[in-house]
Amino acid sequence: MIVILLGMPGSGKGTQSKLLSEKYGFKHLSTGDIFRGEMAAKSPLGLKASEYVKSGKLVPDNLVTEMVAGKLEFDGASYLLDGFPRNLEQARALGGFLASHQVPFIVIFLNLTREEVLKRLTARRVCLACGEVYNLTTRPPAVEGKCDKCQGAVIQRDDDTEATVRKRLMVFEDLTQPLVAYYKGEGVFREVDAAQGPEQVASALAVVLDSTMAGK
Ligand SMILES: [Zn+2]
Repeated sequence: MIVILLGMPGSGKGTQSKLLSEKYGFKHLSTGDIFRGEMAAKSPLGLKASEYVKSGKLVPDNLVTEMVAGKLEFDGASYLLDGFPRNLEQARALGGFLASHQVPFIVIFLNLTREEVLKRLTARRVCLACGEVYNLTTRPPAVEGKCDKCQGAVIQRDDDTEATVRKRLMVFEDLTQPLVAYYKGEGVFREVDAAQGPEQVASALAVVLDSTMAGK
């Protein structure tokens, strides 16, 4: 079985992917990790992808899909896909591939309101020296502007300013809305409210997964 985890920016998708993989024994496939791995290994697909990345272009959907599909082994293993598919073209390509291997899949969307995304992401602060991530609401550094771990400067990245977060949200929604509509049409779409604590989100995800697996 394949679990596709989609999440609003700031929904805690990375954390939940890790928790789910541990709890259910999913192999966790993150597109970013696959990219870096293939490019570092200079595999044929990795070399192709490198060319696009070097020239500042987006890696084409079919190449991304090929890289992810290449990681799936149909020996009874279950996978959690994180960061893929990112748009409708990738979703259709993946859908065709999974159908041809008769692999069932489910899509779970970690949903947040726009206001909540803004609140969460603009509160994010990062240590310039060690990369430790803080949040002014949920986990501020003990001393304002100073890293608890290394005493480095804790700052707001340009990525986390309100203007940038709004832009990211727009891009995300443009790509994701067609994806959500597509998966709803396929009858495989589930939604979890991510505006709760990480533990409550994990429990809500478990409810969805357990009921899906019980139905199979
Ligand atoms: Zn630090």
